[in-house]
Amino acid sequence: MIDTHSHIYSAEFDDDRQEVMQRAVDAGVTHIVMPNENLESVQRLLDTYNRWPECVSLALGLHPEEVHDDWADVLDRLEPFFDQHPWVAIGEVGIDLYWDKTYRRQQMLALERQLAWCCDRQLPFIIHCREALTEVLDVLGQFRGQMPQGVFHCFTGAPHEVDLIRQVGDFYFGIGGVLTFKKSTLPLTVPVIGLDRILLETDSPYMAPVPHRGKRNESAYVADVARCLATVLGTDLSTVDRITTDNAQRLALVRM
Ligand SMILES: [Zn+2]
Repeated sequence: MIDTHSHIYSAEFDDDRQEVMQRAVDAGVTHIVMPNENLESVQRLLDTYNRWPECVSLALGLHPEEVHDDWADVLDRLEPFFDQHPWVAIGEVGIDLYWDKTYRRQQMLALERQLAWCCDRQLPFIIHCREALTEVLDVLGQFRGQMPQGVFHCFTGAPHEVDLIRQVGDFYFGIGGVLTFKKSTLPLTVPVIGLDRILLETDSPYMAPVPHRGKRNESAYVADVARCLATVLGTDLSTVDRITTDNAQRLALVRM
């Protein structure tokens, strides 16, 4: 089982990262993909990779909530890190207008530049999209003819939003703890996506699935998401495990 989105390198895990990694392995997690957030988090990512190189992959990018007026300068300073590590993806990138629309234009420009990195370096994207599907699809639409591959991480949209995304490209959808929430509408959406385009994720330390809801999330809990997904799709855990693992490998999020 692969947790395709986890921030276990962050300070929330400084006291017990070893135990958290061990619990993930014990729960059947074979690999964890960790996306970057800002300039300061890069070193944390590299340190975490160096400790568990056989089961961690890293993505480089600037999180949309970290995009401010200096975004172009920050991207200039992130870019040299491409030479220091075999990154598997560009992430997490995207647009988030949930709390604040001040940097809408800057977020769109930063996304455009980072999607160009995907094209230049033949890497998939990990997109964070919240209250911004129109904007994200607008930027992605500029890449018609050379569309990078990628995943819409922490996807919580409705079936018609899956259709809108598919009019732009054939992408993957990261499904996490929200699927397990009592009032979640995701059980209506995941059959429309289909298991062959779903990636499992936790988004640790956020979005812990039931029965851990409200607590700090960790990669071991991706098994709870997988079990829930198997129930929703009327299949078994081993099928969910096998196909979502194949999907992550097909998207090249895991270095073999
Ligand atoms: Zn994230």
